[in-house]
Amino acid sequence: MKRKLRHYIRRIRRLHIRKKYLLLAGSLLVLILLIVNINLIVEKYNTRNHEVGYIVSAANETPEPTPVITEPPQETAVPIDRSAWYMLLVNRWNPLPADFQLTLHDLGNGESVDERIYPYLQQMFDAAKAAGFRPAVVSGYRTRAYQENLFNNELANFQAEGKSYDEAFELAQQWVALVDTSEHQAGLAVDINASGGNGLVYSEKNQQIWAWLKDHCAEYGFILRYPEGRTPITGIQYEPWHFRYVGTEAAAYIMAHDITFEEYLNQ
Ligand SMILES: [Zn+2]
Repeated sequence: MKRKLRHYIRRIRRLHIRKKYLLLAGSLLVLILLIVNINLIVEKYNTRNHEVGYIVSAANETPEPTPVITEPPQETAVPIDRSAWYMLLVNRWNPLPADFQLTLHDLGNGESVDERIYPYLQQMFDAAKAAGFRPAVVSGYRTRAYQENLFNNELANFQAEGKSYDEAFELAQQWVALVDTSEHQAGLAVDINASGGNGLVYSEKNQQIWAWLKDHCAEYGFILRYPEGRTPITGIQYEPWHFRYVGTEAAAYIMAHDITFEEYLNQ
């Protein structure tokens, strides 16, 4: 009886042990399944997030419309007829051709201009008069001898101020062109002041007429030839009184773009 009981107890113990193992194994399995499942959930979550992220970033990465580079509309370059008589460039670097000739039109006050610019000059003066001004040509065409004389006087004046010959020569050239480098010798330019404006001085009368001329000269084919601050380009100081005929096309362009004749020809 005792044996049977012992045997029975042993059996139960073994069973218990097996049960323990089974429980342990079952727990392990559940744990493994849980871990795997968690991993799967996390992975799924990550994937979802990634997808969302992807979509978001995809949304962000939506290529922006290629910026259309709108260049400022290029103005149709008007071909410059450099051989035209009114396109003649005369400055310290471009003296008048040795064979230069012109026909003059007498203005009746001792001054004259190239007869080809006279009609336009007259039209400009008529318009100025209509606007209430009384313009006068102080200096038009100059002979070679007259230009030479003007320059020598200017040179002497600067020397009298104590300047060296070289300094005086450079300064004189900025105010009076050296012989054969003056537009006045070409008959294409005029110095204008107000009638009774007391010469080429900054009187109120003169300044008013210069302002009107600057605004309207292009309409008649003239330009303000020596604008302020362009001496390195033109070689001449600011001269609000000096207007040069270049034709209406070039004049409109030059005055609208605030450039010099030199820059216009070099474009
Ligand atoms: Zn002049």
